[in-house]
Amino acid sequence: MELNQNSAAVKLKVAIQKSGRLHDDSLRLLKDCGIEISNGVNKLKSEASNFPMEVYFLRDDDIPQYVEDAVADIGFVGENVVYEKKKKTEVVEKLGFGKCRLSIAIRRHEEYNDAGFLSGKKIATSYPVIVQQFLTKNNIEAEIHEISGSVEIAPGIGLADAICDLVSSGSTLFMNGLKETETILKSEAVLIKNDKLGLAQQQLLDKLLFRIQAVKKARNNKYVLLNAPNENLQEIISLLPGMKSPTVLPLAEAGWSSVHSVLNENEFWEIIEKLKAAGAQGILVVPIEKMIV
Ligand code: ATP
Ligand code: ZN
Repeated sequence: MELNQNSAAVKLKVAIQKSGRLHDDSLRLLKDCGIEISNGVNKLKSEASNFPMEVYFLRDDDIPQYVEDAVADIGFVGENVVYEKKKKTEVVEKLGFGKCRLSIAIRRHEEYNDAGFLSGKKIATSYPVIVQQFLTKNNIEAEIHEISGSVEIAPGIGLADAICDLVSSGSTLFMNGLKETETILKSEAVLIKNDKLGLAQQQLLDKLLFRIQAVKKARNNKYVLLNAPNENLQEIISLLPGMKSPTVLPLAEAGWSSVHSVLNENEFWEIIEKLKAAGAQGILVVPIEKMIV
């Protein structure tokens, strides 16, 4: 079989979703890590031109099995799939994309106070393992009806009283007359690895992880440049978090300085407002490509 072909040089074998919600972001992450992969349409396998890496394009549901079997050394897949498939793999790193939640939803007009609602009911889902764990944890007996897709139409056609499905905006639920009542798992894409990875593969993975972490950090931070009147310089510097010594350069215009710093995405807007209030002007915000600390 083509997938098992051995080649002399050690390569990191990476499983990525063939098409779907994780495909583009997974390839973009590799690209941002400086790894070039040609992605031919309908191709099962591809090779990186500048990193010892082979990429297999697979259905996301199959990725944990391929990684457990060491057909792939690592895989990019949703946590929801990892927990549902329960294969022997190890989660190495959260990747910051493919964020969604696995939630219970019921018909909009019905009342749901707690998970007790589900007692004796029929729940349609593509995630029977995770749903059963949730029911067991809450001491509830209910019937799980496993379906592989279009779960949201199940209550409308009388197939189930409730569903458990992936949600991001909630608009699909709304269009089907349903409401989300409880989140049972928050998920994002993660990198998993075979739990008996060889030394050479582990070294390549460490190299890749170093790059992924630098890209993730850069995506979460912005480089900020601003002009500050010297009389407010101390106040402005004190608003910049975690930077003991931001870069401060004198401007050609007397009495003004240029301040450069790095801000985290989460606190970004709040700090920008305070900087403005403290007299900062000409604020420039620049994306960071890589951040190695
Ligand atoms: P495949 O053909 O590979 O089996 P799929 O139809 O099962 O694809 P997608 O819909 O492409 O899968 O979703 C892949 C993953 O994207 C999900 O398992 C989940 O981790 C993540 N995801 C993020 N947001 C959502 C969402 N709103 N709905 C479904 N999945 C989402
Ligand atoms: Zn799938």
